[in-house]
Amino acid sequence: MKRYEKLFINGDWVEAHGKGFTTLVNPATEEAFAEVINADQDDLNRAVAAAKAAFTTWSQTTSDERAEYIRKLQKALEARKEELAVAMSQSMGCPIKWARIIQVNCVSAFAKFADRTKEMDVVKEVNNSLVVREPVGVCAFITPWNYPLYQLIGKVAPALAAGCTMVLKPASITPLQDIIFAECVKEIGLPAGVFNLITGKGGELGDALVTHPDVDMVSFTGSTNTGARIQRLAADTIKRVCLELGGKSPLIITEDAPLADAVRGGVRDVLINSGQTCVCQTRMLVPRSRYEEATVLAKKFVDEMPVGPTDSEETDIGPLSSMAQRETVLKYIQIGLDEGAKLVTGGLERPEGCEKGAYVKPTIFRDVNNKMTIAQEEIFGPVIAMIPYDTLEEAIEIANDSKYGLSSGVWAANKEEGLKIARRIRAGQCYVNGGDFNYDAPLGGYKQSGNGREWGDFGIHEFFEIKSIQL
Ligand code: NAD
Repeated sequence: MKRYEKLFINGDWVEAHGKGFTTLVNPATEEAFAEVINADQDDLNRAVAAAKAAFTTWSQTTSDERAEYIRKLQKALEARKEELAVAMSQSMGCPIKWARIIQVNCVSAFAKFADRTKEMDVVKEVNNSLVVREPVGVCAFITPWNYPLYQLIGKVAPALAAGCTMVLKPASITPLQDIIFAECVKEIGLPAGVFNLITGKGGELGDALVTHPDVDMVSFTGSTNTGARIQRLAADTIKRVCLELGGKSPLIITEDAPLADAVRGGVRDVLINSGQTCVCQTRMLVPRSRYEEATVLAKKFVDEMPVGPTDSEETDIGPLSSMAQRETVLKYIQIGLDEGAKLVTGGLERPEGCEKGAYVKPTIFRDVNNKMTIAQEEIFGPVIAMIPYDTLEEAIEIANDSKYGLSSGVWAANKEEGLKIARRIRAGQCYVNGGDFNYDAPLGGYKQSGNGREWGDFGIHEFFEIKSIQL
């Protein structure tokens, strides 16, 4: 079994002070395949000290210098794309054919932040003042396991572009792409201390990281509960806190939408990555007049997506990312049944041919009303709630009746009609008639889905302070 014993601190792989290891388990096979060192508080302090020391010079580099490093990093990552796809497929169960696309495509967006270093050169004259942008300082990054490389790039790339230094702590079950990234950092000679990686458990390292007096900003992606705790803990030292949290996003299908396209798009949106996509639209709102037809279509489209081994090119749907996540999802399916929702397809049994592993049958519920637990809580599994509605006003009301506001979708007769509805949904994103994901557009939540914006030009705004200089 491969053992990763070192941490990346101050530009090098160093012995850890922490003694324990996290065992990585392939959720498709339940086989352990690697062990990764758990950092302790002493390691964390060393990483923060390195980032603090590096800030003095890194923050003074020119935008061109930082752009050059970012371009080199992207090239180094491009060369290791297949390795990255395999690492993520093994550790969190994304089928390899999809890992090569949805888990790794984000590498191409990395270099965009080379151009965005220029955002830091923007100076505004206001009467006798110059308003300038300066990097926020030492950043602590905490990332989840569902799109681990995407989360890394969404934070690290804009922070580098802005001139910040950083300590990254990935989810304990998915640290491999972060380790590969740190190897790239070393290979291209990024100045020591700008990027530091500590591996280990969030429950053990999290509090110390987000309360550390030398950390200026925390950017966290994960569950709303953990995000709320981080915000509370970071309050004592008035850190900037950017939270990218959970979701329970609606998809409104209108009366005159192309129903098959809409249902197919909705089903695939949720089932790819086994429902572990923060922005996926897990509440499908369908006009009552087309409800029966929609449920038949939904089952048909689920049946078209093979569930199976992650290393097969045939497989569309893999396991959940861990056996613990499988238990959580099964618990929600049971709650759905107990609360009176009916199965269109799926349920509590294992998918055929998947006797081992964290597999759950792709599950569609019908006769769901929006007050049910399965319509209100984020399940983070391959589960869709089909909710009937009578009028468009009611559909919009149901869509907005959620503590979350991360994403949303609309399928209407045409883009113009879809756009009108999109503007009425309280969420940070809306996908109209199957619009594509866009790395140059900001992503972030309303309400309890968070307060940050990542990606695009807005992504770098999290990472600068504004100073006004009076002349
Ligand atoms: P999680 O909150 O359990 O863990 C996220 C990270 O926080 C991990 O690195 C974990 O080790 C760390 N952590 C755990 N306890 C901590 C603590 N007390 N202090 C500090 N850090 C701690 O979330 P998860 O289950 O890994 O991820 C799934 C969640 O992430 C879902 O709710 C999903 O919607 C959300 N998510 C949101 C976005 C977004 O952009 N809004 C993107 C992806 C995932």
